Amino acid sequence: NLSERLKTVASFVPENSIIADIGSDHAYLPCYLVHSGKISRAIAGEVVKGPFESAQKQVKSEGLEKHIDVRFGDGLEVIQPTDGVQTVTIAGMGGPLIAAILEEGKERLLTVETLILQPNIHAKAIREWAINNEWKIIDETILEEHGKIYEIIMLKRGKMTLTDRELLFGPILINNKSVVFEKKWINESNEWRRILDQFNKINFTPEVKQKKEELEHKIALVEEALNA
Ligand code: SAM
Repeated sequence: NLSERLKTVASFVPENSIIADIGSDHAYLPCYLVHSGKISRAIAGEVVKGPFESAQKQVKSEGLEKHIDVRFGDGLEVIQPTDGVQTVTIAGMGGPLIAAILEEGKERLLTVETLILQPNIHAKAIREWAINNEWKIIDETILEEHGKIYEIIMLKRGKMTLTDRELLFGPILINNKSVVFEKKWINESNEWRRILDQFNKINFTPEVKQKKEELEHKIALVEEALNA
């Protein structure tokens, strides 16, 4: 049974699109999408041998070899221009790693129209990458499963500008502050306050001072967002 997290990622995938799932691990997401009839063609990319073999095994055991190509490679390098990939999914990693994978493989995105990204932390890194590379946020969601909170961001090509607070919270998420959203940011700001307490116990180097100001700024943003 697929996790709520990956089911939600799947719900963002446009019907009948050719997808590449990067960092696919067991290839659960492409298997689910093909089985559900939503898509019929996918590439599952993996750069680590163990997960790559798990993906191969899973695809074979589900009899989906004709539909899902499991490829070994770093990030987007598993995508060839002739594949006609329309949608790229990258889930279950940190935002900065997802952004680095996109940055390094940009030239592989020629045929790609939609990016569906599920950062475990620091979604801000993805929003920054999107702005700098002319992708815009079409949809966003946030969900909690087994005590962890996940964000999902859907991008299509286009320009966007975001304020500081939209970068941090997400332009769509901030406009419909759900219970999970509030919980996430209360947790985060509590963590930042803990770090600030630690900073206050040590000597003030310029780096610490800068970090401290950043944290104070973010805490102020959270307070403003949650009280507005
Ligand atoms: N996408 C699945 C999910 O959401 O459940 C698996 C997430 S798993 C935590 C992250 C996977 O990404 C690992 O299997 C890892 O080997 C793979 N990975 C990390 N960096 C990668 C890269 N540059 N290229 C391809 N795969 C990568």
